[in-house]
Amino acid sequence: MAILQKFMEKINSKMPCTAELGYNEPMALHTTFKVGGPADLWIKPEKEHFPAYTAFLLGAARAEGIPVFILGGGANLVVSDRGIRGIVLDTGAWSGCDFFPGKKESSGEAIILGGTQADTAVEAAAGQGWGGLEFLAGMPGSIGGAVWMNARCYEKSVSDVLLETELLDEALNRRVAYYIPEEYGYKKSPFQNRDVLILSARFAMKKRPEAEMRQEMGSRRLDREAKGHYRFPCAGSAFKNNRDFGKPTGKIIDGLGLRGLTRGGAQVSPWHGNLIINTGNATAADIRGLVEEIVTRVNSLLGIELEPEILFVGEP
Ligand SMILES: Cc1cc2nc3c(=O)[nH]c(=O)nc-3n(C[C@H](O)[C@H](O)[C@H](O)COP(=O)(O)OP(=O)(O)OC[C@H]3O[C@@H](n4cnc5c(N)ncnc54)[C@H](O)[C@@H]3O)c2cc1C
Repeated sequence: MAILQKFMEKINSKMPCTAELGYNEPMALHTTFKVGGPADLWIKPEKEHFPAYTAFLLGAARAEGIPVFILGGGANLVVSDRGIRGIVLDTGAWSGCDFFPGKKESSGEAIILGGTQADTAVEAAAGQGWGGLEFLAGMPGSIGGAVWMNARCYEKSVSDVLLETELLDEALNRRVAYYIPEEYGYKKSPFQNRDVLILSARFAMKKRPEAEMRQEMGSRRLDREAKGHYRFPCAGSAFKNNRDFGKPTGKIIDGLGLRGLTRGGAQVSPWHGNLIINTGNATAADIRGLVEEIVTRVNSLLGIELEPEILFVGEP
């Protein structure tokens, strides 16, 4: 810890920036699953100096061999019980949306900062009469995380409306990455294999009556509520779907009678096979154990290899 405190003193003397920070910060406070041990250092830099400060911080950390994990809304993560070594860089304050009319009267564009909550972006767009992001209504997490994951809801993926992404690239330069369809797939984006920070994303938007959008957004949120998404801490679907399996993964798990299967405080929700919930006192090890057990059972009974969608991060 002393090393990181010294590191931060050095950083702050060279580039002062207001930031919330915590040493030994429990990651359970920053994930929707509400599990996860301590990060050596969790830092959430203010919006004003975010790009310059994060570039400086990332460069300095790299020079000293300190690992940095980029945190969006923590909505797709299982952080290990031992926590995360090094720095967790929280993008949450880097939030905001701008909307621009396009060449045609009915078309436009949105530029949304990476730390913006997806639901906040959807609300802002609807408030200004811009449609395109309604499918994300009610989905927890940030726009940066949604681009990184190529999040998909109600048959629509982020890549369906993405035009370009602004990155802090591997060399810590701000750079635009244009949308290249071949680089994206189901829950797949090119950023999953790269050491980059997504600063913002530009989306194609269309003028749409606000009342119509509000109705769609409301019905998405109600549907999520009805599906029990918010009933217990979780990270959404535990496993990816795969067309080759012939049916949704939830149905496959249901079919084997695995609803309600429990490991410590982690449970396959009693109402949906593809939702693993924290019933109150789950550890990351409980969740990992349950995921592994489901993978093994499905594989041995059906010969199908399920792929987790939730990400396991942190010290094993
Ligand atoms: C109740 C519930 C319902 C859900 N429903 C859906 C759904 O319908 N569809 C769906 O696809 N997902 C769903 N999810 C999962 C989750 O909401 C998405 O995966 C979301 O996009 C994750 O975003 P995040 O900001 O929370 O990312 P995090 O969980 O914080 O991080 C995920 C990954 O993205 C990286 N990352 C995050 N931000 C950045 C950035 N700015 N730059 C670089 N890397 C970054 C992280 O390092 C990490 O590797 C659901 C989750 C919950 C809790």
